Amino acid sequence: MVMAELIHSLSYEGQLQNRVQGDVLVPGNEAYETARKAWNLNVDQYPACILVAESARDIAEGVQYARDMGLGVAVQSTGHGITLEANDCLLITTSKLNEVEINEVQQTAWVGAGVLWADVLTKAQTLGLAPLLGSSSAVGAVGYTLGGGMGWLARKHGLSADSALEFEVVTADGRLIFTNETENSDLYWVLRGGGGSFAIVTSMKIKLYPITEVYGGTIIYPAADAKEVIKFYREWIHWLPEDWTTSVAIMNFPPVPDLPPFLSGQSVVMINGCYSGEDLQAGMMMAQAWADWKQPIVNGFHKMPFTEIDSISNDPKDPSSAKSSGAWLKGLTDEAIDTLVKNTVGSPIMKFEIRYAGGAVSRTHNNAFGHRDSKHIMQMLIITPTAEALTKAEADIANFKQVMSPHLTGGVYMNFLEGKESRQETHNGFLTEKYNRLMTLKAKYDPENIFRFGFNIPPKR
Ligand SMILES: Cc1cc2nc3c(=O)[nH]c(=O)nc-3n(C[C@H](O)[C@H](O)[C@H](O)COP(=O)(O)OP(=O)(O)OC[C@H]3O[C@@H](n4cnc5c(N)ncnc54)[C@H](O)[C@@H]3O)c2cc1C
Repeated sequence: MVMAELIHSLSYEGQLQNRVQGDVLVPGNEAYETARKAWNLNVDQYPACILVAESARDIAEGVQYARDMGLGVAVQSTGHGITLEANDCLLITTSKLNEVEINEVQQTAWVGAGVLWADVLTKAQTLGLAPLLGSSSAVGAVGYTLGGGMGWLARKHGLSADSALEFEVVTADGRLIFTNETENSDLYWVLRGGGGSFAIVTSMKIKLYPITEVYGGTIIYPAADAKEVIKFYREWIHWLPEDWTTSVAIMNFPPVPDLPPFLSGQSVVMINGCYSGEDLQAGMMMAQAWADWKQPIVNGFHKMPFTEIDSISNDPKDPSSAKSSGAWLKGLTDEAIDTLVKNTVGSPIMKFEIRYAGGAVSRTHNNAFGHRDSKHIMQMLIITPTAEALTKAEADIANFKQVMSPHLTGGVYMNFLEGKESRQETHNGFLTEKYNRLMTLKAKYDPENIFRFGFNIPPKR
């Protein structure tokens, strides 16, 4: 061994590099600068070391190495949902574990830890099957599922977590194990809604559903009609079947040239919906209620192949600087509608959306997800191009939540929180009994809290 190689093999990263196939990156290396980035550009993290894992075995080696070195372990697929920046730890990135294997007969898929929903969607649709992805297929399938996962098929087929059948994981002591209904079933309970602070998922098996075409899209009214639109929405969803998953949103568009003039710099109210029943004609007739009630500025509901499901929310795909937050509402009372319209139309909140849960989301499942009885989940998004804008956005969101507090249950949906707020509010993501069980299981599976960068669940002492 030449001297340079010898020195490298004794160095911090060299010791791990000798044990894994994937690259080990440390500060000062150009690849480290790329790998430490997250989809959310607000994130500015400096791990002690990054392992770009190429296999489940790499992850197990990485965890064992981190334990030996006394380092915490963070895991990142896309960086859409960072709760605590991965500073001074080992960051394991999973983007190279990107295999999707579909079993057409069973209608299931095994997906690697770094798989994006887009990968599952494309592959499954060629066989006439659909996964329970969310509003953006650029989100990671595993991270989304660990937090619950509420998408455009939620009222019909439930959360993505409810359709997760099995996980392969690396535990905090570096063992590679399976969890399902019969094997390590308490950990299986946790991973469906309780987040990624208990083990690193290397792959998961999920159910798929035979859906190739849906009816839906977006209907737009002027913001001046917001109160009436939301009140009519309240009546409309009351009689819709579970084949429909819908939301109502107030958008305050920035003045940008890529938008059409009727949206650029304007506030509008939008109805978003997806009908996945067998007879799309029936969905079309139910949506006709809107045009019969009042002519919208745009009626964008139409039949679409399921491959185009992203077009309903039209979320940004490219990395963005944004602050997101949310909370469960007690209901859509007249008072709640008055308060939210007064405080969102023309406000700094660019997107304010209320999704209607209920249906299959409300049905009991033996897993960690909390708040199944709540029906209306609100989500806010503010664009934050600078650190000052992020500080202001945090204050704007806190103020808005304060004003809305008489109408909130006190519960949150963990997937809609990130950053500091997620850390502070984790216990409100679960009902007390579930949070207590999560802390007990944290003590069993990760007593030293080496996976401390996800949901904030301390081990019970
Ligand atoms: C544009 C956009 C649209 C969204 N739409 C929806 C939606 O419709 N419905 C919904 O429910 N949510 C939605 N979300 C929220 C999203 O589900 C969460 O942010 C989710 O955590 C993202 O997962 P990720 O793997 O892409 O992100 P990452 O930031 O890479 O991961 C987030 C966290 O998940 C955990 N994690 C990821 N991979 C693993 C693993 N292999 N093992 C253990 N833990 C792991 C870690 O704690 C990590 O910090 C959206 C978010 C954005 C930004």
